[in-house]
Amino acid sequence: MSLQAPKGTYDLLPPTSAVHLKVREALAGPARLAGYGYVETPVFEDTAVFARGVGESTDIVAKEMYTFDDKGGRSITLRPEGTAPVVRAVLQGGLQNGHLPVKLWYAGSFYRYERAQKGRYRSFAQVGAEALGSDDPALDAELVWLAARGFADLGLQTTRLLLNSLGDSECRPAYRSALSEFLGGLDLDEDTRRRAAMNPLRVLDDKRPQVQEQLAGVPLISEHLCAGCREHHDAVRGYLSDLGVAFTDEPRLVRGLDYYTRTTFEFVHDGLGAQSAIGGGGRYDGLSQALDGPPLPSIGWALGVDRTVLALAAEGIELTQRERCEVYVVPLGAAARRRTVSLLAALRLAGIATDCAYGGRGLKGAMKGADRSGARLTLVLGDRDLAGDVAQCKDMASGEQTPVALADVVEQTRERLAQ
Ligand code: AMP
Repeated sequence: MSLQAPKGTYDLLPPTSAVHLKVREALAGPARLAGYGYVETPVFEDTAVFARGVGESTDIVAKEMYTFDDKGGRSITLRPEGTAPVVRAVLQGGLQNGHLPVKLWYAGSFYRYERAQKGRYRSFAQVGAEALGSDDPALDAELVWLAARGFADLGLQTTRLLLNSLGDSECRPAYRSALSEFLGGLDLDEDTRRRAAMNPLRVLDDKRPQVQEQLAGVPLISEHLCAGCREHHDAVRGYLSDLGVAFTDEPRLVRGLDYYTRTTFEFVHDGLGAQSAIGGGGRYDGLSQALDGPPLPSIGWALGVDRTVLALAAEGIELTQRERCEVYVVPLGAAARRRTVSLLAALRLAGIATDCAYGGRGLKGAMKGADRSGARLTLVLGDRDLAGDVAQCKDMASGEQTPVALADVVEQTRERLAQ
């Protein structure tokens, strides 16, 4: 068998690759309109960026990273997420010393050694947005709204937003102790106990029924928020209501990363089965310091492109898939092929999406290519046409064919396309 893409990965090929591009554009669009600038970081980082920026107790760092030593003996990790690299880049570039908040968006591939299944891949795409350097709850609401807009712009109807606050360094320690004490009284397996000892909040995230059953009556963070966190959370909820963003309070919502504080949220879609999260985010007020930076209260999200594509399919939404082709050129004979090379360039320079029948195909085969391309007009150049300095312009919808002078074929084509 010929070589295959590695397990848990996939290739994006036309026509579905166009859907992924559209989804990326749609998810990033609202943030771009709201002053978020484009950021791009390397696909790999010093392992410490994630070990410290995501947290040693997380599954991501403990189990899922693609980590290797490079030829210079440095420990390198393929990025499993985008926030820690963006914060690293902001600090390295000194952006925290300029106008705050720093607003950035990104799109790209991320890598986690996960159990591969539908909606869960080892190389997957996310669009992300981050706003660094402000603890204004209006910014939390802005980001949530931007993500909700992205999904809505794609036509998704049944995404749900889950909202919680994880508290901060003032109130979380007491909650953590109360939670640990509660978990200590449960019948948990060895592995889960170890997880609970490292980060008890992660147990709330455990989807297994034998764990969930025992969590009835678990202490909730919402009952332990300090005054500052309560006020912040109430403000965020109020702004979201003003914006008409529907949400469900989910006091057991925690996220897989250690650095989250206060606002945390997740967008879920019920058409996806087990992997229902199509995006999520939250505040990470302590992350900058974990990466040796100054205090820099910040918030962001990452939306899953692959799962958004699956959600669209689940709702039966078809984005136009065909790459645009307006004009198809069919050269018949060597002289026509030669003339076609510059004709294509002229049409494309005029901004007209153009393709042609390559490989010297006969008229019948070439016209099949014209049909498949979806072009509205086909320009046929035969020897006799060339001799008369014309091309035959065929309207693919009506079948009507008229000669057009080659001297002003670009202008003529443009006019016909505008009709
Ligand atoms: P996270 O960084 O884990 O909060 O992920 C943010 C979003 O990225 C999730 O809500 C998913 O939509 C998507 N995502 C995360 N991990 C994967 C994966 N392994 N495969 C596909 N999508 C993923």
